[in-house]
Amino acid sequence: MESNLNKKIKTIYNATIISMNKSMEIIEDAFITIENDKITTLGKGKPTNTENLINANGKIIMPGFINAHTHLPMTLYRGIADDLPLHTWLEEHIWPAEAKYTNEKNVRKGSKLGLAEMIKTGTTTFADMYFFSDAIAEETEKAGMRAVMGEAILDFPTNSYKKTAEAISKAVNFIEKWKSSNLINPALIFHSTYTVQKETLLTIKELAKKHNVRLHTHASETQKEVKLVKDAQQLNPIEYLNSLGLLKQGLTAAHCVWTTESDWKLFAQNNTSVAHCPSSNLKLGSGIAPIPQMLKAGVNIAIGTDGCASNNNLDMVEEMRLTALLHKGTSLDPTVIPAKEALKMATINGAKALGLEKQIGSIEVGKQADLLLIDTQNTFMHPIFDYYSAIVYSMNSGCIDTVLVNGKVLMQGKELTTLDEVHSVKVK
Ligand SMILES: [Zn+2]
Repeated sequence: MESNLNKKIKTIYNATIISMNKSMEIIEDAFITIENDKITTLGKGKPTNTENLINANGKIIMPGFINAHTHLPMTLYRGIADDLPLHTWLEEHIWPAEAKYTNEKNVRKGSKLGLAEMIKTGTTTFADMYFFSDAIAEETEKAGMRAVMGEAILDFPTNSYKKTAEAISKAVNFIEKWKSSNLINPALIFHSTYTVQKETLLTIKELAKKHNVRLHTHASETQKEVKLVKDAQQLNPIEYLNSLGLLKQGLTAAHCVWTTESDWKLFAQNNTSVAHCPSSNLKLGSGIAPIPQMLKAGVNIAIGTDGCASNNNLDMVEEMRLTALLHKGTSLDPTVIPAKEALKMATINGAKALGLEKQIGSIEVGKQADLLLIDTQNTFMHPIFDYYSAIVYSMNSGCIDTVLVNGKVLMQGKELTTLDEVHSVKVK
């Protein structure tokens, strides 16, 4: 495609637009005009009187993927400890490795590696949970990616802070520093209800209200976690979060594997979103989240890769395909999570989970130009009987040709434009 894709105003024509808007409109032989960072026109055919016309040569244009739960700098710990249950993996491998290696320099190194991987696999926005959040945000902004993030709060010392009060003040400073950014959306992030005490959880809730930001946590990931919380609080993690008023405070809960029917009702009533992370849940032997049941109960389900240390990649195409397949097998029902639903989960539902549905998640006039161009001439894309089927079941991330965020090109012709290719990374 022509290099004038970098110009501030561009009209891309000869494309098929998979809009993911409310009516799930698909426009064939379409054009899209982008001015600065926003989508300004959508139409059919070849537009006239436009200076910067770019021929998409039949490519599919779709909204970028939204990764609703990850730990970006942990890309540095890809493959550090495999084939272990979560609590052994976390307590005997991840936390000791983090104590030794997690510092600002390594956070930047892991972030850059993860950002490159996410752009190559079509993610344009991610929700992050980690430490040294300013460093992550700076690298993310430099790469041109969009994120919802903050300093992850735990009630024990990390290499980023020693005490809870310091964690809270870092989290608040982060909100103040980044609230006007057009790429970084500050949020309040806490690890879980078994690593953060009641008093801290209540402080976080008040801060979320005061600063009008969303919340993000892990919840009901393993049976062990549910037992730990029940023993301590006489409530399961979801009931406990609800009793503290956190569910209704714009919360996205990652995992939710061991949840009950009454938990799903609470999610639906309180507009709590769930970030489904099937690869991580399978790899750590945590279980399989009851996604079809939650969908039926009216819960907004988004998809996350989780961190690279438990996946071991950040590829939303893989995660979306796994989501569509996994639940058919466990429910013995091939009609659950059809391709269209899986693609919604990876795009517009992710935007809702992050409180950004007015800005991103679908291709609509006035929304930010966070877009993917899919190469329909790739072997994996032939033939196309149904676009959703092609994207969810046939496509792999190697079919993604071009990635734009806020109208800016982050990858064109599979070449990264804002980041260097990473050929070698060592943890030291
Ligand atoms: Zn996680």
